[in-house]
Amino acid sequence: MSIAENISKFNQEIAPFNAKLIAVSKTKPNADLLQAYEAGQRDLGENKVQELTQKYEDLPKDIRWHMIGHLQRNKVKYIAPFVHLIHGVDSLRLLVEINKQAEKNDRMIECLLQIYIAKEESKFGLDEAELKDLLESEAFAELNHIKIVGLMGMATNTENEKVIRNEFRELKTLFETIKKENNSDKVEMKELSMGMTGDYKIALEEGSTMIRVGSAIFGSRNYH
Ligand SMILES: *Cc1c(COP(=O)(O)O)cnc(C)c1O
Repeated sequence: MSIAENISKFNQEIAPFNAKLIAVSKTKPNADLLQAYEAGQRDLGENKVQELTQKYEDLPKDIRWHMIGHLQRNKVKYIAPFVHLIHGVDSLRLLVEINKQAEKNDRMIECLLQIYIAKEESKFGLDEAELKDLLESEAFAELNHIKIVGLMGMATNTENEKVIRNEFRELKTLFETIKKENNSDKVEMKELSMGMTGDYKIALEEGSTMIRVGSAIFGSRNYH
């Protein structure tokens, strides 16, 4: 199937769930991104700052760029002028830097806090206690150029559907708890970014509002 056909298939599939498709275009050439664009796709996800910045410069300006990868503080300045949503924020220090760069660009940057849900060593993210500490800290209260609009998580890379479902369910529960308990004007829990090519169906069933899908749209990636 073509990229355009894949986009249309996904849009049909997610329609009943009221979720958004983030097409993850990392490593793919601009021609592929343009095919998605011409099929109506406006939300694209990248995980490397340099690649994201280059593609932003080369491609139509009404694309909404999602930074989905691990973000280093010294690179925030490159994406601050244009990034639509930063999915993987996992520390107050990073949030402080995003706030500083957002202020320099005279804008507000929306962020998702990444929560550690997988039973794997290598994944980034906050645990529940760290999340609550961050949201209740005085330093957080002073950040006037960022807004937390939800949570993001990655499930364990496993064939075991039960494990994945439990992790997504845990994240959804935490999302609902924060939504109910937190009344900071900097926090508005509306997006739950979970699900990729291998597990997006389970994620949708468990309440995802944003699935980040790469290979099922653009084909598998070749890393060199
Ligand atoms: C690459 C990536 C995806 C998409 O992965 P696929 O398995 O190709 O759908 C989603 N989320 C993050 C954080 C990624 O880095």
